[in-house]
Amino acid sequence: MSIKFDDIKVFCDFDGTVTLQDVGNEIFKGVEDFEVLNRLFIEEKLTIYEYWHKLCSKLPKGTSTEMIREQSRKFEIDPYFKSFVEFCQHNKIKLYIVSDGFDIYINEILKINNIKLPICSNKLLEKDTHLEPEFTYASESCNCYSANCKRNFVLNQSDENTLKIYIGDGYSDFCGAAHCDIIFAKKYLATFCNENSLPHYNFKSFFDVKRILEKKLNDNQFKKRNRATVDSNNAFKYE
Ligand SMILES: [Zn+2]
Repeated sequence: MSIKFDDIKVFCDFDGTVTLQDVGNEIFKGVEDFEVLNRLFIEEKLTIYEYWHKLCSKLPKGTSTEMIREQSRKFEIDPYFKSFVEFCQHNKIKLYIVSDGFDIYINEILKINNIKLPICSNKLLEKDTHLEPEFTYASESCNCYSANCKRNFVLNQSDENTLKIYIGDGYSDFCGAAHCDIIFAKKYLATFCNENSLPHYNFKSFFDVKRILEKKLNDNQFKKRNRATVDSNNAFKYE
């Protein structure tokens, strides 16, 4: 028997997933003490909020949002991402970008590629003397590595009749992916899925993602994942 969903939603990471490189890391990598701060964050000696505040405070004096926008234009996206966006539109699948990076470079990179998508990310604000990060989507109850809790965004955009699909590669994707029905993972996210027995598809590019989803759609093979449903209901209770 075929299962009907009210809607199918795809939640997609940006840095290293849509773009070939981690744009945030590339932009901040020139900042003094980048490696040290990065290690402290990975070792959980800095929270993600402290990490971003420290990095932003170390940007060279006079760095503007326009300079970051300008810098971001050189970064390439996955060559198959655009056709994946079109595939989603064609099949009425809603696609969201969920990122622990910053709005200014995500918007710019999508714009130069003529792609328009809803985005959930942190913001980088231009103050008189410096740039300041703003974390609109922080979570108090989630124990995640992301200033922008992706789990909460996934849950806020869906209900029990939504089929939730996640695509990502990094630490900030753990909580969002764990609450989705179908997971596409590479790098750290794939390791996390293996360590936590989360069924997932490995992917190299959006060519793979599109091919697999296209087949599932044609064969009517979409199914809810029981543990994702249970964990989502629990998360709602505690947030
Ligand atoms: Zn979270």
